[in-house]
Amino acid sequence: MALIVQKYGGSSVGTLDRIRNVAARIKRVLDEGNQVVAVVSAMGGVTDRLLSMANELNANAPERELDVLLSSGEQQSIALVAMALQSLGVDAVSATGGQAGIQTVGSHTRGRIDEIEPSLIKGYLTEGKVVIVAGFQGVTKEGLIHTLGRGGSDLSAIAVAASLDADVCQILTDVDGVYTCDPRIVLNARKLPEISYDEMLEMASSGTKVMQSRSVEFAKKYGVVFEVCSSLNDNPGTLVTEEHPAMEAVVIRGVSIERSQARVTITDIPDTPGQSGKILGCLADAEINVDMIVSNISSDGMARHSFTMHTNDLGRAQAALKPVLSELSSDAKIESEAALAKLSTVGIGMRSHAGVAAKMFQALGKAGINIGMITTSEIKISVTVSESQIEDAARVVHEAFELDKKPLA
Ligand code: ADP
Ligand code: ASP
Ligand code: MG
Repeated sequence: MALIVQKYGGSSVGTLDRIRNVAARIKRVLDEGNQVVAVVSAMGGVTDRLLSMANELNANAPERELDVLLSSGEQQSIALVAMALQSLGVDAVSATGGQAGIQTVGSHTRGRIDEIEPSLIKGYLTEGKVVIVAGFQGVTKEGLIHTLGRGGSDLSAIAVAASLDADVCQILTDVDGVYTCDPRIVLNARKLPEISYDEMLEMASSGTKVMQSRSVEFAKKYGVVFEVCSSLNDNPGTLVTEEHPAMEAVVIRGVSIERSQARVTITDIPDTPGQSGKILGCLADAEINVDMIVSNISSDGMARHSFTMHTNDLGRAQAALKPVLSELSSDAKIESEAALAKLSTVGIGMRSHAGVAAKMFQALGKAGINIGMITTSEIKISVTVSESQIEDAARVVHEAFELDKKPLA
């Protein structure tokens, strides 16, 4: 008998028929002689609808109340899935994050799982029940509800699997696995049989939303091997696991895109110590997440700094930087540009293969796509392009690296 943790995302529980499908799948796994803990998301679209209602009532809704509101989406779906299972004669019971012993620390709306005390889940399992756990939520020691950031049910599932030392952890979604690029954009994207934690992490944090990046970090830290597969068919999915030597033979594993990016550039900054710290410090104080950072010195000896962020943060970033400009120099100026997107290629094979950046940039150049900023890490190359060209850019780069073709062994 294996203990299987499954996670069903919002699209997999988006309608009552989909919930019936989930119940039938869980029943099948139980009938094969396994124990199941299923972590579920809110029905697709519910979290967004709750957020927009909150925004309509109060543009600065307190995060404590947002957590109470948003966590209700998952609370609905656990009860519905449990009821659907009960109607099939399965002994199912639901558990909110708090009931499941998921204890969090950190701030409201971006809580971090500190520990899981799974005695209630274990007790139910021993009684032969299937347990349906609410994803995306936990409670603090003081009993306050936290949510775990968008896509956070992935994290709940991985953490529950780790705490129960589950035999199998499956992330069931509306695609068959992790593809070389979003299959809705690059139609000939190929499903990957496996991907390393580091590659999945880089892809997730550069826009591949099939997995929440923090969940992959957690899986890597605790060695939780998991499979991303479809809730709608039985095709083999993608195994996300520790890297092994054969993985390095593939130069690029996949391409990610991230839309709604904005760039801020500050020019005419004296080239002296401390300036970057002042700029980034004021953005950090305003709790603005900066992504790419590029700085250089122009021919007149003055420095310029550019950084990107989500477009939603642009207004706040401009406001936060205004008072700092005069501290930098009397000539310092700020420029900004929205409607950008980021394209990233990811692969651990980059470490041992030269010429990857050249190939990527040449492919974009040949397609007439202008590159803005460029940043690299050991296993990732990212560029900004105009948002209107991002889908073409993804297809061109995917083609250049022949990602649609199975790599030679
Ligand atoms: P869930 O509701 O199950 O959490 P998500 O919507 O969060 O599902 O993630 C699944 C979606 O991720 C897919 O529908 C797909 O469009 C998108 N996606 C983006 N990049 C990829 C990729 N490289 N491979 C697979 N899916 C991807
Ligand atoms: N319901 C939450 C969201 O939409 C969490 C999740 O689906 O993983 O972000
Ligand atoms: Mg998701």
